This record gives sequence, structure tokens and C-alpha cells, in this order.
Amino acid sequence: MSNADWLSRSHTAVWHPCTQMKHLEQIPPLPVARGEGAWLIDYDGRRYLDATSSWWVNLFGHANPRINAAIVDQLGRIEHVMLAGCTHAPVVELSERLARLSGLSHAFYASDGASATEIALKMSFHFWRNRGRPHKTGFVSLQNGYHGETLGALSVTDVPLFKDVYAPLLRLSHQVISPDWRQADPDESAEAYAWRAIAQMEDFLAECADTTAAVIVEPLVQGAAGMAMYHPIYLTRLRELCDKYQVHLIADEIAVGFGRTGTFFACEQADIRPDFLCLSKGITGGYLPLSCVLASDEIYAAFYADSTARGFLHSHSYTGNPLACRAALAVLDIFDQDDVIAANRAKAVRFTELLGSVAAHPHVRHFRHTGMIWAFDVKQSSPHFARDFHQQALAQGLFIRPIGNTVYFMPPYVIEEAEMRLMADVTLNLLQTL
Ligand SMILES: *Cc1c(COP(=O)(O)O)cnc(C)c1O
Repeated sequence: MSNADWLSRSHTAVWHPCTQMKHLEQIPPLPVARGEGAWLIDYDGRRYLDATSSWWVNLFGHANPRINAAIVDQLGRIEHVMLAGCTHAPVVELSERLARLSGLSHAFYASDGASATEIALKMSFHFWRNRGRPHKTGFVSLQNGYHGETLGALSVTDVPLFKDVYAPLLRLSHQVISPDWRQADPDESAEAYAWRAIAQMEDFLAECADTTAAVIVEPLVQGAAGMAMYHPIYLTRLRELCDKYQVHLIADEIAVGFGRTGTFFACEQADIRPDFLCLSKGITGGYLPLSCVLASDEIYAAFYADSTARGFLHSHSYTGNPLACRAALAVLDIFDQDDVIAANRAKAVRFTELLGSVAAHPHVRHFRHTGMIWAFDVKQSSPHFARDFHQQALAQGLFIRPIGNTVYFMPPYVIEEAEMRLMADVTLNLLQTL
């Protein structure tokens, strides 16, 4: 079967995410037969560099031998068992290791990022209720923030294209200005702008803390907003404000956790510990759907009682799936064995160098970089810029998907020098033709 065969069958039967299906008549999806390291290979044998890590989930390449081996080993033991009334070694070990890494001792699992957001929101509300403060029902998040697309998560998301149609179904939540440094005045530093943004958060909390359960933010990088980056002082100060006003801090590290921002968790760069930490995407190296909400002792204690109704009764059928937990343990082993954070630091320096001509290009604005994420905005772009850039890059062997007029690179950590060069060269070529 060739690309063409799969494309026509796919078009009749598969409804794609985040896609107007009619547009696929002009821009068909890429039929992927297999993967190898940072590469995707189609049914006609052509290769494409996966510059977005398959929607930000892949860390150590496709068909990684070490992760494959862990999953195969687990397949021979137990593929799945319910986690209500049962437990197993992979979920215990993973929970212990995540607790050591985060300082948050209690791990609650689900399958997708959006479910982790739902869990954190529900837990926060339920905590205050168990503590005798049932009026704390509100949530505050950042402008342009993204926390997933189920109804609760969408309520705290601020992306009009995803949200506006469903407004009648959503809970009201409040948004305050984002510390995204692109919005700073020309002579204002990222840090000064973060201080200005946090002042608005403080105004909100000073007025509404009595009815607010939690603040939810994407630490350091707002991914879906187009890789908006901000100064860590915002998070340090936010932690202080949450303590002062008795509001929970939910850190949504679904996209930025697992080394993406240059530290294992982004919160480390602000030297803070959130009340809830949401993880998914990279947690299994991009292999299997798994998400996790890590909660502090104080949160956990509010649910621990004789009464069933005081407990957190939320569940998903695949909660704590053993195969996914084994993939996650293999990922943590690779971090340890290969000293990945240090290796990434060297790779990041090199790729930033290689992007020198891109950063200096006259069509490029706001070139920015945090850890293993690079982004820039393109001036003078057509309304079809993202589509056109994607297609032209694909023709040159690069799979990349701009968000609006923002081009970003979020490569798997196994990326090598020659592959970094390809990303930089193709991008520079395409900028010359704009
Ligand atoms: C992707 C993402 C989510 C949602 O995760 P899904 O697995 O797609 O439901 C939530 N928050 C952030 C910051 C994300 O990037």
C-alpha cells in the first residue's frame, strides 16, 4: 500500500483532531509508516525530520530500543489492571520517583493532559470544600493560556478559536494579562514586564481570593499561545501571592515538564513548588497516553478521612496503566543514565548558534529560546503562512507546523548536529523566499 492508498481510505474514515476536514482536500495529512529516531518515514519511503516531536510528546526518538524493551517486558507480565482495588510495581515505582523529583508525594493518574487539568481543578475545589470553604469555586488563568479541551479545561483555556463556540457550555473563569515578554514596551526588560503582569494578578487575588480556588499557569512557556516565553520571577512572585491569599497554585507542566525548558521541571527555574503539578506528553517519551497530577501532603491530608464522600472519587478506566508506567520508568532511566539535562544544554547552545542567520533575518521578530524550545514570529506573512510554510518545509524533508505566524522548533532530545543543520538551513531557505 502506498501513500495514496492510505490517504484516500483515511479521508473517508478518519476524523482528524484540530482540523477542518475540508481543508485536507488541498493539504492531505502525512501518512506515516514508521519512525526511526527523530525521523518519520512515509509509505513511499520518504523521510521527514520530526521538528515538533509529534505534538511535543516525543523525547528520545521513535522506536527507541530502551523504551521498546521496557514495554515488551511489561507486556509479558500484565498489560492492564484496574487501579481501584489493585496496585502494581510500575505505578508504585513511578509514583515514588516522581515524588522524589517534584517534592510532591501523592500521584493521581489519568490518560490525557486535559484529564490532568480536570483532576487538578476538581481536587482544588474539593480541598477547600473539605476544609469548610465551599465558596472557593473560581479559577484564574493567564491570557492566551492553554490547558486542554474538555469542558473544565477549556474553561481555563484562553484560545478564542478553540473556546468561543463552546462558551455556553463553559464555566466562567477569569484571565489576567500574560507575562509574555513580547508584550513588553520597547525599552522594558522581560523581568520588568513580568513584575507589571504580576501586579494585575495581585489585584485580582486581593479582590477575589475568597471565591477563588486556584490559579493555573503554564510555567515559563505558554505553548499553544505560540511559544510565549516569560521571566521566572513571575512564578516566584506568584507562589508568594498564592500563599498570601490562600489560593492554590496549579503548575500545568504537561508540555514543559521532562526537561523541555532546560531543567527537569520548569518550576525549578523559579525555585518554587506548586500545590498541584500536572504532567503528561513527554512522561512516556511519546509512547502511550498517560497523565499525572502530583499533589502535596497538605492537599492529600484534606481528603484522608473515614467518610467516602470526603475522598477524591474521580476515575478513568485506564488510570495507572502498567504499560504506560513502564514506558515512563524507562524514560526516567534514560534521563539518569545519559545525563540528559546536561547533554541538552550543550545541544541547545549549538542549535542556537546554527540559528544565528535565522534570528538575524529581516523577516524575523522576537526570536526566543528556552531550553529545548526555539521560536520566532514572521513579519509580512500571508493569512496562509502556517499552511504554506508547513508544505514547503515538508517538500524539503522537514516536518514542522507553525502556529499562526510563529515558527517553532521542539525537537526530540536525540537530535544530532546534522539534523539541527537541516532544520536551520531549510528554515533560512524558506525565509528567503517570503
Ligand atoms: C497539550 C496540553 C494540554 C492537553 O493535553 P492533551 O493530552 O492534549 O489533552 C494541557 N496543557 C498544556 C500546557 C498542553 O500543552
